[in-house]
Amino acid sequence: MVARRALVILLLGASMGCDPSARRATAPTAVVIRDVTLVDVVAGTLRPHMTVVVVGTRITDVGPATGIRAPRGARVIEGSGRFLIPGLWDMHSHSLWSAEAMQSFLPLYVAHGVTGIRDMGGRMSFLAAYRDSLRRGDPPWPRVIAAGEVIDGPEPVQADISIAVPDAASATAAVDSLARGGADFIKVYTMLSREAYDAVLAAASRAGLAVAGHVPADVTPEEAARAGQRSIEHLRDEIEPFCSPRAAEACARLAETFRAERTWQVPTLLVLRNKAFFDDSALARDPRLRRLPAELREEWLAEREAKLRRGSAYAASKRARYADEQWLVGFLARAQVPLLAGTDAGVAFSFPGSSLHDELALLVDAGLTPLEALRAATLAPAEYLAARDSMGAVAPGQVADLVLLRNDPLTRIGATREIEAVLLRGRVLERRDLDLLDPPGAT
Ligand SMILES: [Zn+2]
Repeated sequence: MVARRALVILLLGASMGCDPSARRATAPTAVVIRDVTLVDVVAGTLRPHMTVVVVGTRITDVGPATGIRAPRGARVIEGSGRFLIPGLWDMHSHSLWSAEAMQSFLPLYVAHGVTGIRDMGGRMSFLAAYRDSLRRGDPPWPRVIAAGEVIDGPEPVQADISIAVPDAASATAAVDSLARGGADFIKVYTMLSREAYDAVLAAASRAGLAVAGHVPADVTPEEAARAGQRSIEHLRDEIEPFCSPRAAEACARLAETFRAERTWQVPTLLVLRNKAFFDDSALARDPRLRRLPAELREEWLAEREAKLRRGSAYAASKRARYADEQWLVGFLARAQVPLLAGTDAGVAFSFPGSSLHDELALLVDAGLTPLEALRAATLAPAEYLAARDSMGAVAPGQVADLVLLRNDPLTRIGATREIEAVLLRGRVLERRDLDLLDPPGAT
């Protein structure tokens, strides 16, 4: 509970205290979206002919279009024929690992309606730089909840963004130092020993921080769930041996544990699909590659080339595995295991912002309804972050992070890509503003 309260305060602080646009006397203080169809992700219904009033960074009023009066001087956005959803969250991404990544990635999220991200591993120095930029200016960047460095075993998988901990004492010290530096949660990784993992959980609990990430090889997913790890990423090696179409009973038992313990699963289907279909030549021609720092682009392409050299049996085994992973996501959804949408943006062929829409489509392919997929990026992140009172719905009192769509996303999930405008902490970004953040057809 301590962790939850700390996080809510943090979210409120980020949305109220640090948004300079709310303090700027010349900025319009009120925005009205008139006669729009609300996509009510809580009830799972459409509410046509509604008007939404935003003052400063918050939604202050929502009601039938005929009954709401616009505050004097409000900027009016015509919502007729359009659909309004809460701002989207990418719950697994990597943007805070270099100054260049931070500067190039963060606007791309907002350009595609992603107004919040959970950063699953980077560096505390860039988290500090992010917070500093938000305090000093008003960059069009999403809200970020970040882990800082990942805590891994003595030989970390991702050495450049990890703290290597050989034992329990150094694990405790790592958590304490991340907590002192202002990390929002703790990310654990595969090579941690069991004693170090236990020490991380204990230290994080004392510091009021949630623990999320991979399940160490030494620990079973059931143990991780019972120990209070809040989210498990990528399905991966630790879940999949227990959960396949050939082991549906064991999978049902594990799913029941996840459901009972509220252990969130973040499938990152896009990454798994890219691993299975790395030979798809479309990956190498993706126009979004041009928006990336050159060095990163080259790294992704080289990674793909290396896989191509491994031959067709390798590709076939990855594809069979992906079919199981799709089955698993559908299974978890039917078993009411809580799910979050995440892309792993920053790893090969997972693009900041636009890939969240790819992930939503893949979740629907795996068996979720469009509503369930949309919830995984709106309502579910709010629940996960224990911040339902400030985000995840279009309702009075909520932070004004909103996305105005041309079409109904409950009929066709691809409609989340068709963005007319984004409200970011109450600031209006119309289509032309979004095109400046991610120029269409840019070369
Ligand atoms: Zn990741």
